[in-house]
Amino acid sequence: MEKSLVLASNNKGKLREFQAMFAEFGVDVINQGALGVEACPEPFGTFIENCLAKARHASKMTGRPAMADDSGVCVNALNGMPGVLSARFAGELSNDEANNRLLVERLQGKDDRRAHYTCVLTAVRTPDDPEPLVAVGRWYGEICDEPAGEGGFGYDPHFFVPEYGRTAAELTAEEKNRVSHRGKALVQMHKLLREAWGW
Ligand code: IMP
Repeated sequence: MEKSLVLASNNKGKLREFQAMFAEFGVDVINQGALGVEACPEPFGTFIENCLAKARHASKMTGRPAMADDSGVCVNALNGMPGVLSARFAGELSNDEANNRLLVERLQGKDDRRAHYTCVLTAVRTPDDPEPLVAVGRWYGEICDEPAGEGGFGYDPHFFVPEYGRTAAELTAEEKNRVSHRGKALVQMHKLLREAWGW
């Protein structure tokens, strides 16, 4: 099998991180948008269900092996919100700025700032693959009121990483990929691709 995966996402930030991380493993990652595939609905309440639906959809539309990422930030004081709603926390037309503003607002007056990013990755060989590969990674940090840094995307300027004493947006791409939820899930996924698919 050719070592190439369609990525079921149109998020440029994610694509950039995946291409950089998979290049090391000799796996080519193609954005589904470049193959004319539009995003499918994400109607479920869990990362894993949405993720699998996205991978199956991308494989169905392209006839190729596909991988999906479903990720988000889960905040302790908000009982895990925004979670699967992270991309559209401030509404269907929300953007990073509006989402971050709402998150900071919701945490006003709260001492507990703990949060983590979660990333679920799924990969399927065919749309009805009976044994999808599933990997999960988490990255623990704290939500800070003041944004800092220009790197990364999404909630990164407000995601303070105690082990570095900086926000995720202040890390270099290499630093972030080494410790992030996506980086951790990806290392597991690479192992699964090698063992289960013989890549
Ligand atoms: P998805 O496309 O439904 O998986 O949405 C994921 C959303 O979670 C993104 O749009 C971001 O808001 C947030 N998110 C996931 N991973 C990261 C990250 O590494 N940095 C910052 N925000 C992230």
